[in-house]
Amino acid sequence: MIVMKFGGSSVANADRIRHIAEIIKEYREQRPVVVLSAMGDTTDDLIEAADLALTGKVLLDKTEKLHLDTAKALGIPDDEVKKRLGELRTLLTGVSMLKELTPRSRDYLVSFGERLSVRMMAAYLNSINVRAEYHDSWDVGFVSDSNYTNAELLPETWETIRTKLGPYAAGKKNDGKPIPVVTGFLALDKNGFITTLGRGGSDLTATVLGASLRAEEVQTWKDVDGILTADPRIVPDARPVPVATYEEAAELAYFGAQVLHPRSMLPCRQTGTPVRVKNSYNISAPGSIIVTKHTEKPSAVRAITTKQGVTLVDIVSTRMLGQHGFLAKVFQVFSDHRVSIDVIATSEVSVSLTVDHEKAELSALRRDLAKFADIAIRKDRAIVTVICDVRRSSQILAQTFNVLAKEKINIQMISQGASKVNISMICNSSESARVVQLLHREYFGSADMDARGGTA
Ligand code: ASP
Ligand code: MG
Repeated sequence: MIVMKFGGSSVANADRIRHIAEIIKEYREQRPVVVLSAMGDTTDDLIEAADLALTGKVLLDKTEKLHLDTAKALGIPDDEVKKRLGELRTLLTGVSMLKELTPRSRDYLVSFGERLSVRMMAAYLNSINVRAEYHDSWDVGFVSDSNYTNAELLPETWETIRTKLGPYAAGKKNDGKPIPVVTGFLALDKNGFITTLGRGGSDLTATVLGASLRAEEVQTWKDVDGILTADPRIVPDARPVPVATYEEAAELAYFGAQVLHPRSMLPCRQTGTPVRVKNSYNISAPGSIIVTKHTEKPSAVRAITTKQGVTLVDIVSTRMLGQHGFLAKVFQVFSDHRVSIDVIATSEVSVSLTVDHEKAELSALRRDLAKFADIAIRKDRAIVTVICDVRRSSQILAQTFNVLAKEKINIQMISQGASKVNISMICNSSESARVVQLLHREYFGSADMDARGGTA
C-alpha cells in the first residue's frame, strides 16, 4: 500500500480536485490511503476569521463561497458541507459575542478546513465510481496530547492505525474496499477535544500513517518536480534531485527548500519508509525519493540553498580570553534572550554565528554579551548551504572557493554541519543569488545566468 498526501494548493478548487481525483484513480491498484490538507488558503482564512471574531465581527464569506461553489462545480451533494459551514458560523458568532478564544477553540475552528476537504473529495471520488470513504483522523487512530495548536501525537497512535487501517492496507486488489481519505493536520486529545499538529502538519499525518502501516512509500504531491537542486526562481534550470537521504532532506528543509518539515520525516526515518515528492502536473516523472542510505554513489553535491535575512554576530572574548566557560556563557545569553542560532563557527577566542534577524530584536542581547566580549553585528547577510557529501569536503571546498575567488565574492564565515551533509557559507544578502548561480553552474552545469564572461 501507499500513502498519498495532497496539500492545500493541490485541492484549491474544483479543477484541482478533479485532477487529483484522477491521480488517485491511477494509483487505485496500489491501495492508497489519501491524506488531504484544507482547500487552498482555508487554514489561514479561518485563523483570520477567528481573530476578526475576537473584535466582534463574523466574516466567513470567502470560506463559505469557496466550499459551496466547489461542491456545486463538482456536482456533489452539499448538505454535509452546508451542515459543517453552519456549525462553523455558529462557533464564530459565539466567539464574536464572548470576544474570547482559547487555543482549544481555535483548533476546533481551524479543523473545519480539513474536515470539509476530505468530505468533498470522498464524495467526488464516489461520483466518478472510485469507491472512497472520508475519515476524521481520530477515527483511524490519531490521538495527541493537549498542547493545542502544536500538539504531539501519542505513541499509541501507531498501533491504533494498524488496527483500523491494517485490513485495508493488507487487502487484495479489487476487493472493492473504499479508499480511505483522511484529514491531515488533526488529532483528538484524551478528553475528546480536537487538536492540530502545527502548521504544515498534514505531512506528519501522512508519514505517521505510512510508517505505522509499513507503506511501500509515502508520496507527497506538489506542483514542482520533487526536490530541486536549487530554488528555480534563482536558478531557472534547477533540476530534480533523484535521491536524497533523510539527513540531506532535513538540511534542505531547514535551509528553505520546498521539502517536508524535518519533524514530519522522523516517523519514516524510523521505519525506513521511503518518502517520494511528486509533481501533480507531471505524473509520470519519478520526482525525488528520500531514503535511508544511498545505494549508488551519488554526485558530490546534492543541492544548493540559500536563506536570506540573516544577521551575523561576531563575539570576541575580552576578559575571558583563554578561560573555560566562554562558550557556555555565550550560549546562556542567547538562551536567556530566546534567540536561536542557525550557523556557528568558533576559534579559541572568538565565535561567529548567525541569527534570523527578522525575528530577533538584538539590542538587549548585545548589551549582555558586551559584558564579557567585543561584539560586531552585521545585518543583511545570507546563508548559502551546499548539501553535499562532507567526506568529500576538501574537494568541494577547494572547488567552491576557486569559483568564488574568481568572481571576487567574499565569504565571511564558513561552517561544516555536524550531520556531515552540509557546508554553509555566509555572504552579503545582495550577493547570495549570484553565489547560488555560480555554484549551481559549477556542480550541475547550469548555463542559465548572466555571467560576466562566464563559460559553463
Ligand atoms: N492546513 C494546514 C496548514 O495550512 C495543514 C497543512 O496544510 O499541512 O498548515
Ligand atoms: Mg494549508
